[in-house]
Amino acid sequence: MIPLGDAQERILAAIAPLPPRAVPLAGARGLVLAREVVATEMIPPFANTAMDGYAVQARDTAGASDATPATLQVVGELAAGVAPSTPVGPGEAIRIMTGAPMPAGADAVVMVERTKSDGGRVEIFQAATAGDHVRPAGGDLETGQRVFEVGTLLTPAHLGVLASLDVHEVVCHPRPRVGVCSTGDELVPSGPLAPGMIRDSNRPMLLAVLEEAGCEAVDYGIARDDEAALTDTITRAVDECDALLTSGAVSMGDYDFVKVVLERLAAERPASTYAWMQIAIKPAKPLAFAAIGGVPAFGLPGNPVSSRVSFELLARPALRKLAGRADIAATPVVATARSAFKRRADGRVHYDRVVVAYEAGAYVCERAGFQASNVLSGMAAATGLAILPDGDGVEAGADVEVLLL
Ligand code: AMP
Ligand code: MG
Repeated sequence: MIPLGDAQERILAAIAPLPPRAVPLAGARGLVLAREVVATEMIPPFANTAMDGYAVQARDTAGASDATPATLQVVGELAAGVAPSTPVGPGEAIRIMTGAPMPAGADAVVMVERTKSDGGRVEIFQAATAGDHVRPAGGDLETGQRVFEVGTLLTPAHLGVLASLDVHEVVCHPRPRVGVCSTGDELVPSGPLAPGMIRDSNRPMLLAVLEEAGCEAVDYGIARDDEAALTDTITRAVDECDALLTSGAVSMGDYDFVKVVLERLAAERPASTYAWMQIAIKPAKPLAFAAIGGVPAFGLPGNPVSSRVSFELLARPALRKLAGRADIAATPVVATARSAFKRRADGRVHYDRVVVAYEAGAYVCERAGFQASNVLSGMAAATGLAILPDGDGVEAGADVEVLLL
């Protein structure tokens, strides 16, 4: 068995970020910028008011208070989206709405709550200072300023900024396109079960977890435990995708052909690597990994919990690297074990499925049901994986590291 860190390192070493390309803004959420963005305009593009109120010359309001209001002549009204035409002269004010451009002559805005108007004139109950409630042109971004650097992970707010700058396409590492196939003669996708058959749970689960991880998931169905059939599916998938997840057939069974096929394809194609690893973790000990012509293929274990945990610990970091992300490793949080987490020493680190809660300023966790690699309902109930180092477990009340799912 090899430590998890060694397996992760080995996999990451075989993977490079996908080559950047231009991506429309609408499809760029969650992608990583590969070219910096420079502002070609100011944001805001013009000075405007941050408040509904009156645009004034601040000096006209000197000394104004509730008891001694300043009275100004209202010479116009400005809604957002309207270009100002009337300037504000001494003794004058213009009724103005949030976002409307500042009219010439005015240097401050008094919020409407501090005024009273009969339409023709307005009483101002507060002395304004030049600049009050004015958002200057370029106050957020200046022309020529670097807005986002290479490596920025684009969130919805980033897309908003880019749209405000009239940027509708960004150069990013593309969304990884990841194939998923299940293996096993016992699997059916749906419907009644003949004796010995079960329904395929890994494929829907992995397709969904890929979508959640910001990848484009592609369904390659169920491959039979047949070397030729498996070769056909895996070949198609690595030719059409940026990465592949299979599940099952990586253990010590007589029909575990994923290992055989990945190893052979890697041997046939240049720039390939292959490794079958026994990793010192539970669940998810076996993993067949190949980079076939640079396309990573993960032969995840078949037991559904193992499949999901193996994805989390081994495939997810690799997919992040493909996507150009810098935050490749998951960071655990520290939680208090609500009850004892007993285990036996077996040379492996255990990743127990746990329910995590945030209570009174700290995380607490407890086991989510029966811990066996085929009990997927426990995985479904879990919101974290508690990392239990080799040994006999942790006592109730002890700190335990947890990867939040
Ligand atoms: P294997 O490694 O192929 O022998 O699979 C290990 C266990 O996981 C067996 O009990 C399989 O029936 C089960 N298994 C494999 N693939 C799936 C799947 N896609 N959905 C549900 N169970 C599976
Ligand atoms: Mg199988």
